[in-house]
Amino acid sequence: MAVGLPENVFMTTVNAAASWCRKNSLWPMPFATACCGIELMATASSRYDLARFGAEVMRFSPRQCDLMIVAGRVVMKMMPVLQRIWLQMPEPKWCISMGACACTGWVFDTYAVVQGVDRFIPVDLYVPGCPPRPEQLLRGLIELQDKIMKTGTLNGTEFGKRTVAEGPPTMEFEEIRRSQESQLLTQADEK
Ligand code: SF4
Repeated sequence: MAVGLPENVFMTTVNAAASWCRKNSLWPMPFATACCGIELMATASSRYDLARFGAEVMRFSPRQCDLMIVAGRVVMKMMPVLQRIWLQMPEPKWCISMGACACTGWVFDTYAVVQGVDRFIPVDLYVPGCPPRPEQLLRGLIELQDKIMKTGTLNGTEFGKRTVAEGPPTMEFEEIRRSQESQLLTQADEK
């Protein structure tokens, strides 16, 4: 004979419990380099209240963060810094690319501006707009929470697919400088 559970007992899996805890306690690492950063600040303010989603603990300490939010355009010189901060963040970690500049480079189609941060670090969620409004970032956060709940596993197997970003691997500053110089030389030769 089947025995029903009492009303005050519920069952779940360890994976689901871990994902639930993780999605409701995201600690953002703000990497705000331009105007989108102001919208990010507004999102954390009392009017929009990021704290409602458990993600208000912004700390400039990568080792305590698990959500990178890249807000604004990133220039090539900043990319090694961004990569280093990303690598310093412990797993499990996620990344939101906020705004057209971070996602694609936007109107700054120059050799000095990174044409999409996903060429260098893995991005889980893109928030479009110039700038995206705080509501859009909140929507993005909710989508990310859904993703964590759907795909999260205790041992992080979901990250196996994205350990390598689509673009070039971590570059040292010298490599970037050399590649920029060679680009400039090529352009000068063509003229
Ligand atoms: S997307 Fe627009 S608002 Fe955001 S950093 Fe770029 S120019 Fe500024």
